[in-house]
Amino acid sequence: MATVEQQPAAASTNGRAGQISVENPATGEVVGSVPNRSAAEVAEIVARARAAQPAWEALGFEGRGRIFTRAQKWVIDNSDRIVATIVSETGKTHEDAQLAEIAYAANAFGFWAKNAPEFLADERVRSASVFVRGKRLLTRYRPLGVVGVIGPWNFPLTNSFGDCIPALAAGNAAVLKPSEQTPLTSLLMAEMLDECGLPPDVFLVATGDGEAGAALVDEVDFIMFTGSTATGRKVAARAAEHLIPVGLELGGKDPMIVLSDADLERAANAAAFYSMNNGGQVCISVERVYVEAPVYEEFVAKVTEKVRNLRQGDPAGGPGTVDVGAVTFAPQVDTIDAHVKDAVAKGARVLSGGRPSGDGPGRFYEPTVLVDVDHTMDCMTEETFGPTLPIMKVGDAEEALALANDSPYGLQASVWTRDTERGEQLARRVEAGAVCVNDAQINYAALELPMGGWKTSGLGSRHGAGGIRKYCAQQTLLVTRFAPKRDLHMFPYRARNTKLLGGLLKLVYGRGRRG
Ligand code: NDP
Repeated sequence: MATVEQQPAAASTNGRAGQISVENPATGEVVGSVPNRSAAEVAEIVARARAAQPAWEALGFEGRGRIFTRAQKWVIDNSDRIVATIVSETGKTHEDAQLAEIAYAANAFGFWAKNAPEFLADERVRSASVFVRGKRLLTRYRPLGVVGVIGPWNFPLTNSFGDCIPALAAGNAAVLKPSEQTPLTSLLMAEMLDECGLPPDVFLVATGDGEAGAALVDEVDFIMFTGSTATGRKVAARAAEHLIPVGLELGGKDPMIVLSDADLERAANAAAFYSMNNGGQVCISVERVYVEAPVYEEFVAKVTEKVRNLRQGDPAGGPGTVDVGAVTFAPQVDTIDAHVKDAVAKGARVLSGGRPSGDGPGRFYEPTVLVDVDHTMDCMTEETFGPTLPIMKVGDAEEALALANDSPYGLQASVWTRDTERGEQLARRVEAGAVCVNDAQINYAALELPMGGWKTSGLGSRHGAGGIRKYCAQQTLLVTRFAPKRDLHMFPYRARNTKLLGGLLKLVYGRGRRG
């Protein structure tokens, strides 16, 4: 067991509740412990980051990019160690850690190093206004200062540290408050950046519980939050008190719509994978399926067979030994089980799984397929965040669409059909920030594509140009080089000038036809 006491606050004051133990959810073994930072300690950590930020900004894109290139290599060279750390604190499989975390970080360092200079370059602007003719008009981006990132436990690298990468690329310092369930990966990332030559204090980790997260909101210039909609609302309300901008990536209830002309074998493989990968603990998991009646029976049979064959357990045996890992967050077992029991009590049938599993101290939930479900059941309306797949029969695509949109969430969705043109038209009518046709989740790997939720699934987006511009203040510059001593519109107002200006406005804007 490792006791981690990294990056202590400069003059540590009254630590609130001492240490937080970190447990391996697959075995119950304690694998580390980290300090539970008090609000005063969080403030000190942010102050250190603030002091380090100007020199980091001054390094420029090239200087920062060099460190990112080293970090990219470090991630690949040390991938076994990173995977082992992630697996030890989440209980997820090696493959889930490799696919969604190592691959993400390695790609992200390269992507932001390459694209930050272009996304944040000065932009020359042309204007139709007669008042600014001949003037130089520009917009530019400047880092905000210190970006705070509050992360969840399902992806301790991707959804926590991952948001720090563009923040740092823009020239901000970043302070990360990881979930108290999974803080070890963030501390490893701090060690990595240190070895890669990041100047001291530019990236700091403030370990602790929810109160440490709340304290971070009070100190930073931008807060990026990933987690539940309920906590997201609290974070947004607290940020509003300081009038700082927020980015929120919250819960989802992603629908999958399977039309009768779909490639059923591919759709069934995808349904099993994208609902159960990472133990179903993915904000963009397939959480509910609507299948057109003519192919419903065949689709259900295929999915059930695939889910029954999944191997679940402690991933300690290494790569290829299990498909579905543990439930990372203890209370989540109760949420998953409550959704399954609620569905069964209201008439649903369990075709596979349906219970917590494992006879040891580890936490698991059996990969579960539910049918005869409807929207009176929590499993179809609330985020389950576990290895469950409720499948509902629908009359046609319009019914599927109406049910897909019957949700307070709007993170992602997918449509499955061989008629990709029709699929795309249907996708455009789904109320979600991202919709795939004949695919799911994999859009997240393309950092060029913005990713953000509609409705209660979030505010703002990550990835794409917007994913780094949000960490900057935009500044407009107007430069006048050649000009008279007094412009026509300046004091004193004279009737002749007013008439002249009126004529000018008529000339420029008054020539279009009416009606
Ligand atoms: P939370 O949203 O409560 O936690 C996310 C992060 O916020 C954690 O780091 C947490 O710290 C921190 N936090 C908690 N309270 C506050 C606060 N008042 N101010 C600032 N930060 C705070 O998620 P949970 O871990 O409790 O999971 C609850 C549900 O959220 C899950 O059942 C799942 O449905 C959903 N979820 C969604 C995710 C997504 O990717 N969209 C990811 C994870 C969960 P700490 O962990 O120390 O409490």
